[in-house]
Amino acid sequence: MSPRHSLANGHPYLAIPGPSVVPDRIQRAMHRTAPNIYEGELHALTTSLWPDLRALAGTTQNVAGYICNGHGLWEAADSNLFSPGDKVLLLASGVFGLGWANALTAVGVEVEVMDFGRSAAPDMARFEARLRADMGEIKAVLTTHVDTASSARTDIAALRVAMNRAGHPALLGVDCIASMGCDVFHMDDWGVDVAFTASQKGLMTPPGMGFVWFSEKAREVGRKAGLRTPYWDWTPRADGPEFWQYWHGTAPTHHLYGLREALTMILHEEGLTQVWARHDVLARTVWAAFDAWGQGVGAGQGGRIALNMADPAARARAVTAARLGAPDAQRLRQWCETMAGVTLGIGLGMATEDDPHATGFLRVAHMGHVNAHMTLGVLAVMEAGMKALGIVHGPGALEAATAVIAQATSPGAART
Ligand SMILES: *Cc1c(COP(=O)(O)O)cnc(C)c1O
Repeated sequence: MSPRHSLANGHPYLAIPGPSVVPDRIQRAMHRTAPNIYEGELHALTTSLWPDLRALAGTTQNVAGYICNGHGLWEAADSNLFSPGDKVLLLASGVFGLGWANALTAVGVEVEVMDFGRSAAPDMARFEARLRADMGEIKAVLTTHVDTASSARTDIAALRVAMNRAGHPALLGVDCIASMGCDVFHMDDWGVDVAFTASQKGLMTPPGMGFVWFSEKAREVGRKAGLRTPYWDWTPRADGPEFWQYWHGTAPTHHLYGLREALTMILHEEGLTQVWARHDVLARTVWAAFDAWGQGVGAGQGGRIALNMADPAARARAVTAARLGAPDAQRLRQWCETMAGVTLGIGLGMATEDDPHATGFLRVAHMGHVNAHMTLGVLAVMEAGMKALGIVHGPGALEAATAVIAQATSPGAART
């Protein structure tokens, strides 16, 4: 039951960076009796997914499906690429890259982490210098496209350029779990060898299914991977030809119906370019509001409100991490949920739990099934909450946010 005075009754909005909002259409597509897995429509439906998944990632190469979440995808990629003792260079700009590093270390891969902190994307000059100094040890360069905790975005195209300039033959592997279907991504054009995403973020489908895309080069290099096991082996999952081999057992039946609907919405109705453009505008709408809230509010006045990523070029289009000062971020999140029906994301890994600053961070997700009224609604609710709770904030946030929407949608706006 909502507390007294609450205005939360109505359609709730889960604005956390995964699981994201599942569209009604996708829920309806999944609400059905179990299909036959041995023949019939499920086979045809699954066959239709593979070309769309390639188009989503911008590749003509291989894609393998798994019944797992994001943590499982790390192991899927690792087990097909590496042997114990192999060395990789991992570029971290938040929390999730470090999580991937831990998964690698646990199975005996030697990980050199280049840690760019929690508020900066990987620095290409430092990266290139490290590659040039390598004595042929680094087998793969791994990174997150978007770190969901810091909302840092790595410039993957620039990473490839740096690798080419250094003349380094390492594989390039990218965790696209937060970014796929939200931020621009071109696997083949950018020379990415391995990319993966899970169903519950930009793909708008419940958690429980993920995909690993891999280049022919990665297939070749990975043939001798000592960590590969029959279950995680991506070869039959990509090639079949038996239907059961695509999933190494029972298919994720209902998720497949949901994903069919999601890919139709993304690729065949709205169009991937427009999906990216929508995420770009909505992200900039959120940034504009935070910039205004942070104006003229000093650290002594309840903590300065600021985006975690100061550099706009290094910001994700799927999620925005921000600081409000402790304990205001936590108070605001609780108010938004109980009083207004909006659930914001917690700050993740920005401070240890016993750190007094730990309650000073939050995240606003804008990934997947999100539109202008949802984003403006979140921002207006947040501002109402700041007023209700007496959280000091600069003026003009909603004017700034609506101006971004207006500019992007006015008849004269440039078409992307
Ligand atoms: C969400 C996420 C993960 C972890 O996914 P789970 O499904 O929670 O295991 C890993 N990497 C990134 C970049 C993510 O956004």
